[in-house]
Amino acid sequence: MPDIAFINGRFLPWQDATVSIDDRGFQFGDAVYEVIRTYRGAPFEVGAHLDRLDRSATQLSIPQPYTRRQWVQWIQHGLSLAGYQDAKIYIQLTRGVAPRDHTFPSESRPTVVMTIRALHPLSPETRRSGVTACTCEDLRWGRCDIKSVNLLANVLAREEARKAGVFEAILVRDGFVMEGAVSNVMAVQGGVIITAPESPRILSGVTRTVVLQLAREEEVIVDERFLSIDSLYQADEVFLTGTTLEVLGVVQIDGKLIGSGRPGPITQALAARWALLTG
Ligand code: PLP
Repeated sequence: MPDIAFINGRFLPWQDATVSIDDRGFQFGDAVYEVIRTYRGAPFEVGAHLDRLDRSATQLSIPQPYTRRQWVQWIQHGLSLAGYQDAKIYIQLTRGVAPRDHTFPSESRPTVVMTIRALHPLSPETRRSGVTACTCEDLRWGRCDIKSVNLLANVLAREEARKAGVFEAILVRDGFVMEGAVSNVMAVQGGVIITAPESPRILSGVTRTVVLQLAREEEVIVDERFLSIDSLYQADEVFLTGTTLEVLGVVQIDGKLIGSGRPGPITQALAARWALLTG
């Protein structure tokens, strides 16, 4: 089964899928993106992802080239070509090709890139034992709510995590936890889930929204506020949420054990609810 590439309304062999060096996505990071996954061949929360793509594009005045219906058709077509049960769909929308100049071009057509690749899920053992993390200073810009391809600060944080031999980098601003480099971060203290509120400081994850809904259905109180780094270290449980991570326990941060050093009961309950929802 092949990985699938799509550019501006055409499915292409991977090696032929190229964009111009004048593309503003390449020149300026002037682009937004989405990552959607499938479960048993069906895209999960596709409406929420396409809503967020619209929101991100609108915030940057990048025109949306396709209707919702067209997007869903392109995605379905690509999935049928790829044939993967567990696929990762990557969509990028740039402001298009124009001679290099910072100001918006008077004329340009957005570039649309989509790829569909096999998704390799985390091992059940990693999910059972949980992962480790380090904290890093959050060097990102002031509009982290826009899912833009300007990911240099995230890249540097992930590299710091890799060098530290841990799974995720938790981004901290002025002593408070924002989110992970590729995930949202939730802590549990006294049975209450605490997570950063939706704001320009974080990307509001599609998984975050669904997990908080599941938590409320389980009658777990959710407190959306910024948590200090010291409170994070002292939390009973910490977990990450994200499209490919789902609900993933964090058992050690900066070398300090979180709770019992195993994913805690609320993390496990939400991971089980997630598995039921998507299985
Ligand atoms: N926060 C950041 C910075 C991310 O990059 C991501 C995912 O890529 C998330 C949160 C989680 O978002 P979602 O649940 O929509 O995948």
